[in-house]
Amino acid sequence: MPRENSSIEVALRRELHRRGLRFRKNLRGLPGTPDIALTRARLAVFCDGCFWHGCPDHGVLPKSNRQWWTEKLDANRARDLRKDEELLALGWRPVHVWEHEVVTVAADRIQALWRERTGRSADQDDGSTRPCAPTRTEDAGGGE
Ligand SMILES: [Zn+2]
Repeated sequence: MPRENSSIEVALRRELHRRGLRFRKNLRGLPGTPDIALTRARLAVFCDGCFWHGCPDHGVLPKSNRQWWTEKLDANRARDLRKDEELLALGWRPVHVWEHEVVTVAADRIQALWRERTGRSADQDDGSTRPCAPTRTEDAGGGE
């Protein structure tokens, strides 16, 4: 995937960091390589470009080669859905943020999910999580 959406991604990372939420960037080994992975809450955040991911507000098809673009963008959407299902199967919650979204609103949504899934507020996070801590902790959680 082209890195078409770096501005929201950078701004969102900055905002989450400001709120004391710890995350990892471009976590390989997870379906879709999430842009932002909050490992404790198992939140996999993707910053989706409006064009490439078919945003309902801005996902306008180019006038030429419509057929090709339709198939291309449909395939992108199908792949997004498939990756989401794979993440869910692994116990991760996929979160999609459109590039047009207000960063603080997106961060609110992520923070709310984070609280819901960890039972903590961010300021209880002591921040001592090692940046390179292993991502798979089989005994974490305790089930749904
Ligand atoms: Zn959009």
